[in-house]
Amino acid sequence: MSLLELQDVEVTYQRRGRAPVRAVAGASLTIGPGEIVGLVGESGCGKSTLARAAAGLLAPSSGRVLLHGQPIAALSRRARPAREVKLQMVFQDPYSSLNPRRRIGSQLADALRINKLMAPELQRARVIELLEQVGLPTDAIDSYPHQFSGGQRQRLAISRALAAQPEVLVLDEPLSALDASAQAQVANLLVNLCRELGIAMLLISHDLAIVRQIADRISVMYLGVVVESGPTEQLWTDPKHPYTEALIGAIPHADGLGVKPRALRGEVPDPAEPPAGCRFHPRCERAFGKCSAAVPDLISLDRDHAAACWLHDPEQAPQPSPLKDAAGDSH
Ligand code: SF4
Repeated sequence: MSLLELQDVEVTYQRRGRAPVRAVAGASLTIGPGEIVGLVGESGCGKSTLARAAAGLLAPSSGRVLLHGQPIAALSRRARPAREVKLQMVFQDPYSSLNPRRRIGSQLADALRINKLMAPELQRARVIELLEQVGLPTDAIDSYPHQFSGGQRQRLAISRALAAQPEVLVLDEPLSALDASAQAQVANLLVNLCRELGIAMLLISHDLAIVRQIADRISVMYLGVVVESGPTEQLWTDPKHPYTEALIGAIPHADGLGVKPRALRGEVPDPAEPPAGCRFHPRCERAFGKCSAAVPDLISLDRDHAAACWLHDPEQAPQPSPLKDAAGDSH
């Protein structure tokens, strides 16, 4: 059984006097115990909204989020049930989620106290252990958030999530505000925590190159829907969706030195007015008649590798149909 499962989740934002926006238009994914799943896509594709739904911070308009096979409730003023405390979220900007006027030790101890995880006399020792787990000096316990660098603050945010002894962490762009060196260090920390403590992670990022270094599997999201998912190396070396191909092609030196990155064609459309048919068709170099007429389903192509593209339907695709043939590659 999956640890965390999103089943056909939709999230619609109502807007006064304007048409509602379907920020997530039916997305499914699963995360197994101790697995790191990356969710990538450009800004505005709905991945942060999906992350908040996955963490129970907002209620889906339809579909379900299951933890251990049980639906999770959207966060309310009441304390979360103990089993849902096992699902924690880390945000992009750690500074905004830390109280600047309180010492780090007391902020980390909050999670132990609120969730009744430990007797008060044991909490200080546990806080020190949490700081060590994320590679921070133990005297950080008496410091304030402004005394830390961006990378250290993100470590603090992760340690606060760890205090709840999570089984799953949902991380929304945890590396994007950091410099390259801090990014690499926090990325290594996440992988180590996953492998050593067996914590599963849903890692949200616009940066496919970083996610490739960390994730076991990747789901690619475009304008509210998952268009491709698969094991990381398989998806990277043999993408099955033109959007994934374009994302990889836009990464500097993605295929080795000397390969110039290619900018993605056009802009992400307004999610309030998504294109008919395949949502990617106005930007897709391979689009053909069927693409603007009907929505392709996410279909399994090779065990765990799935894509939503008419090119993989032999009855619909112009010949030759496989993606690489359509690109003009020779075998
Ligand atoms: Fe491109 Fe058509 Fe495939 Fe959409 S369905 S990605 S438009 S080829």
